[in-house]
Amino acid sequence: MRTLKLAAAAILGTTALTAPAFAQDIDLPIVDEPLELTIHMHWARAQGYGPGGDTSKIYPVEEVAREKTNIHLIDKTSGRNSTDQSEAMNLLLATGNLPDIVGGAKIKQPVNEFGPQGAFQPLNDLVDEHAPNIKAWFDEHPDIWKAIQAYDGNVYYIPYLPDGKYARAWFVRQDWLDALGLEQPDNVEELYDVLVAFRDNDPNGNGEKDEIPFFVRDWEEVLRLLNLWDARSTGADVYHQFYIKDGKVVHPYAQEAYRDGLANIADWYEEGLIDAEIFTRGSSARDYLLGENLGGMTHDWFASTSGYNIALADKVEGFNFIPFLPPKSVSGNRIEENRRIPMKPDGWAISFSNEHPVETIKYFDYWFSEEGALLANFGVEGKTWDMVDGEPIYKDSVLNSGQPVNSQMYLEGAQVYRGYPQDYRYEWQWTRDSARKGIELYDTHDLLVEQFLGVAFNEDEQTIFDKYYPSIETYMLERQQAWILGTGDVKEDWDDYMAALNKMGYEDVLEDRKSTRLNSSHSLSS
Ligand code: CA
Repeated sequence: MRTLKLAAAAILGTTALTAPAFAQDIDLPIVDEPLELTIHMHWARAQGYGPGGDTSKIYPVEEVAREKTNIHLIDKTSGRNSTDQSEAMNLLLATGNLPDIVGGAKIKQPVNEFGPQGAFQPLNDLVDEHAPNIKAWFDEHPDIWKAIQAYDGNVYYIPYLPDGKYARAWFVRQDWLDALGLEQPDNVEELYDVLVAFRDNDPNGNGEKDEIPFFVRDWEEVLRLLNLWDARSTGADVYHQFYIKDGKVVHPYAQEAYRDGLANIADWYEEGLIDAEIFTRGSSARDYLLGENLGGMTHDWFASTSGYNIALADKVEGFNFIPFLPPKSVSGNRIEENRRIPMKPDGWAISFSNEHPVETIKYFDYWFSEEGALLANFGVEGKTWDMVDGEPIYKDSVLNSGQPVNSQMYLEGAQVYRGYPQDYRYEWQWTRDSARKGIELYDTHDLLVEQFLGVAFNEDEQTIFDKYYPSIETYMLERQQAWILGTGDVKEDWDDYMAALNKMGYEDVLEDRKSTRLNSSHSLSS
C-alpha cells in the first residue's frame, strides 16, 4: 500500500497532474427539507439511475449524497430496454414530459439542439450566481466552456470531464528486437528497417515467415503512421477530425503531407509490413496476433495493451510487448497524436420543467467540490477507500478483488456519467507497472499536440455543415481505403481528388472559419 501511494505521488509529480483546485466549500445541506428531483440517466453501464441499471436499488454514493445535500435523485429514465443512448433520448424527448435532470452519455448534441428551442434551461447565469466550484473549474478551462456552448452561445449541460494525459502509445515486441539484435526504432527509417526484419528474419523462431510486422485493432490506427510523414490522421480524440494548421481549420485528408504519407502507407502495405487484413480483422486483432505470437508492433491503449505481458507470460516464452517512444518523422518531429479529450458529450442538464433550478445547480456544484468530487470518483470514504496522508487510496479489497476497479465503481455509483471532474488518481492506482513505465517514458518528451475542440456553430454554419460534410467524409474514407489497398495511386489521383472535394463543398464547409469556428466534435464524434 505504501509503495503504491509513493508511486502515485511520484507520477503525479512527473506528469504535472494535480488534484483539482477547489474554489470553496459549499453550504450543506443544500436544502433544509429533503427535495426529490427526477432524473433520466442512460449510459453504457446502466440504463437507469441505480446499480447496473437496477432502479429498485440505491447507489451507496447516492445514499451519501442524500445525507450531505438533502437532495434525492429519483429515477425516471426513458428507453431502459435499449442500450442505445440516442434511442433513449429520442424516446425521452417524444414524451414531452422531461424529468428535472437529463443525464448520461451523448447528451451534448440533443441538449444543444433543443436547449435553444426551450427544452433545457441555460446554465450560464445559474453557474455564475450559484455554482462557485463549477465556475472555478471553467475559469481555468475557458476553451472547454466555449466548446460546450450551443449555437446560441449558452451552455446547457455540465459535462463529464476526463482526467489524465495519455490514451494510446506505440508498442513493440522488445523480445523480438532482442532476438534479432535490433534497437527500438527512433525514426521513420529505423522503423521501416525493424518492420522489414520482423517480416523476413523469423523473430518468433518457428522457421516460418508468418509474422505480421504492424497490426491494429481499430483500422483507423494504421493512419497514425501518417504522423511519420508530418501528416495528421485527426485533430481530436475521435478519428478523421479537422485540426488547426497555421491558424486555420483544415481537414487532414486534404493536405499534401497526407498525400505523401498515404503513398508510403500504401507501399508498406504492399510490401507486407502492415497486416493484410487491416480493414477486416477487427477488435480481436490484438488478442489473436499477440496470443499466437505473430504480431510485432501496434498503436493502442497504454493500460490494456500492457496487460498482455501478464496474460501471455505462460503462453508465449519471453513475451515482452512494451511502449516505445513515437518515432521521429521525416522532418525530425516526434509526436503522440492520440490523447484524452478534456470533455465528453456526456454529463447532465436541467430541463425546462424543473421548478428548482437554483437547488439543482447547487447540487451539480456539489460534485465539483472537493468532497463531492472524491465521492464521484472513488465512492464512499471508509467503504471503498481511505484518505492516507492526504491522498485517496483504494482499499486492498477493491484493488485485489479480481474485478476491474472501474466496474466496481460503476456499481457503487462512482464514475457514473454525471457532470463531474474525473480524478486521474482513481485510474493510476490500478494501472499496471509496464504501462506506468511507458507513461513515464512518454513524459520525458513533449509529445502531445493540441486537440481541436472548436466552438459551436451558428445555425447557418450548422446547416451548411450538415448539407455537405457527411458525403465529403464518406468520399475521403472511400478513397483512403482504396489507395491503401492499392486501387489507384494517391499521388497520381491527387489533383482529381482535391477537385472532387471542392466540387462537393469542402471549401464551403471551411469558408469564414479561418480560426476556430468549426466544431468538429459537435457533429462528428460518435
Ligand atoms: Ca516465424
